[in-house]
Amino acid sequence: MAGCIFCKIAAGELPSEKIYEDDEILAFNDLYPVAPVHALIIPKVHIDGINMAKEGQEALLGRMLLTAKKIAEQKNLKNGYRILTNVGEDGGQSVKHLHFHIIGGRKLEAKFG
Ligand code: AMP
Repeated sequence: MAGCIFCKIAAGELPSEKIYEDDEILAFNDLYPVAPVHALIIPKVHIDGINMAKEGQEALLGRMLLTAKKIAEQKNLKNGYRILTNVGEDGGQSVKHLHFHIIGGRKLEAKFG
């Protein structure tokens, strides 16, 4: 989608520190990490957020989650980690292209909000 920074990253028009790529998915390091490991997994196709995912995209969403698991294994996050996706304004979503955060490498606070 025009003007979407994650579409530009997916298209190689903006740089990123790539961790994983296949025909449908890209994973890269977050520019402003909140933990020693902070990666983002995005679909290459533009989806505004999980609230805009459609019937028929189940396989893509499942693949994103399994990619999160693989990245956690690669990064040796044996003690655990967090997968999260912010949705919309109240959810704190700043980039309107679906992304799963994988955060780990330190003890995370077990609270929300
Ligand atoms: P959210 O606030 O859930 O929408 O998350 C957006 C995330 O994208 C934030 O953690 C930002 O640090 C990250 N981010 C923004 N721009 C870039 C970029 N060009 N490359 C990598 N991460 C980015």
